[in-house]
Amino acid sequence: MINMLFSYCCGLLALLFSLGLTAQPLFDSHLHYSAEDAQRFTPHEILQLLDKNAIPYAAVTGTPASHVSSLYHLAPERIVPLLGLYRHSDEKSSWTKDKSIIPYLKKELARGYWQGIGELHLFADDRHSKVFNKVIALASEWQLPLLIHGDPAVIDKLYEIAPEQPVVWAHAGTFPYPELVSDYLRRYPNLSIDLSMRDKRIAPDGIINDDWYELFVTYPDRVMIGVDTFSTTRWQLFNSAVGTIRNWLAQLPDEIALQIAFVNAAKLYKKPLIFKGDAATKDAIQ
Ligand SMILES: [Zn+2]
Repeated sequence: MINMLFSYCCGLLALLFSLGLTAQPLFDSHLHYSAEDAQRFTPHEILQLLDKNAIPYAAVTGTPASHVSSLYHLAPERIVPLLGLYRHSDEKSSWTKDKSIIPYLKKELARGYWQGIGELHLFADDRHSKVFNKVIALASEWQLPLLIHGDPAVIDKLYEIAPEQPVVWAHAGTFPYPELVSDYLRRYPNLSIDLSMRDKRIAPDGIINDDWYELFVTYPDRVMIGVDTFSTTRWQLFNSAVGTIRNWLAQLPDEIALQIAFVNAAKLYKKPLIFKGDAATKDAIQ
């Protein structure tokens, strides 16, 4: 009996070990680590959650920025710190009229470690905002990608001003229809999308939708994944959110899944395509 139990436990450990080693590594391109999250999870616990889910790299923003900074300084090789615009969560709806955000951003950028700006929320009516214009100029000056949660008209306005600016369009935009998204990716070569919070559209009932599949195989180098931990509850459900993403990724051709899961974000944020101890990724990329 003891022998049986022993071999069962060994088998289970071997299985878990192999699962850990063979899981597709993910680069999460859209996480938040804000004040409420920091009350529930320490930076160390966030890294443990990433480890558990085979996520070697993550782009993380937060309100206020100090929590992201703490997380980044704990694992600077793994965390891509994105500078949020909001010092308090209520600035999410007022920032387009708040000129004080610009000196704040300048002061933060001067620290030298921020690797992107956003997530900024912006809708069509506010696309002519002078503050937005200045944020674009700062992103260009520092050569940092912008993470934008916004309407198609906002993307049009941005590319009118700064055609070379790398942008990640959060959640595949506010009107996430594959035909529309495809049109925007065709028109703007420096635009990418993240698919956070769009799992139900991408794979209703778990099966990948044909139109999304078509979008991914047409633009395999312009698409990224992300959980988008917009609330502490989302962090608590992190493992299952990652599982949902992995389920539809597994339905794509291996090479395309790898690009979307990892390579595209690694290229955008200048992280190594191969990380220590991961032979599977090395083989797939070569
Ligand atoms: Zn977000």
